[in-house]
Amino acid sequence: MTRQPALFISHGAPTLALEPGATRDFLARLGAGLGRPQAIVVVSAHWETAVPAVGTATRPETLHDFYGFPEALYRMRYPAPGAPEVARHTVQLLGAAGFSVAAVPDRGLDHGAWVPLLLMFPDAGIPVTQVAVQTRLGAAHHLRLGEALRPLRDEGVLIVGSGSATHDLREVGSHPYDSPPPAWVSDFTEWLAGAIGTGRTADLLDYRRLAPQAMRNHPTEEHLLPLFAAYGAATPGVAPQRIHAGYTCGVIGMDAYRFD
Ligand code: ZN
Repeated sequence: MTRQPALFISHGAPTLALEPGATRDFLARLGAGLGRPQAIVVVSAHWETAVPAVGTATRPETLHDFYGFPEALYRMRYPAPGAPEVARHTVQLLGAAGFSVAAVPDRGLDHGAWVPLLLMFPDAGIPVTQVAVQTRLGAAHHLRLGEALRPLRDEGVLIVGSGSATHDLREVGSHPYDSPPPAWVSDFTEWLAGAIGTGRTADLLDYRRLAPQAMRNHPTEEHLLPLFAAYGAATPGVAPQRIHAGYTCGVIGMDAYRFD
């Protein structure tokens, strides 16, 4: 069985599923290059719970958890099978690592999961389950959560943290779709790239204090927390790779990282 990496990907707006662009092309290439994972575990910014939770559905439904987007998006489905056995194993791993953990049998796939997976694995043939984020528990909690998930990679399970490198939605409307990033955005994404690339874990965990304009780029933390889960799932000593960079509307960082 081939060991799979952990990834952090920025999922952008739901319209990523419809509109051509660099991130779409990147995700298609990325999926094609990963071979065939046994299953996929997505830690998504769009599932927030008080304690860690894992979806155990056999046939997770496609959740259209967004408002005011084109009708075509609401007709899209990602009919991948669930991964109940991997989900149960995930519950065990989290429990063994000391987390309280909930198994959630009726959880579907939110757009943080299905939009990128639709582009990466369009045949929807690989079983998928989701793990929630705990927005109030911060970066270190999610790093430990990722560490607990690490053994899944040896079983051929792809771990995907799905969020956004920057995520100040208040600013989206005031920038054209393909506008360059203002400095307060690119300063943050480049700080992040430097800290990840050089393995400055302590700095990363303290990013809200140390990174330039952290609060402005992440008024709330849920879209960056999946990054810490992916980072924690990395094999110690293996250098992470920044595998994609870019911006949507200047203020949404689309960066992706691969952790082997
Ligand atoms: Zn999102």
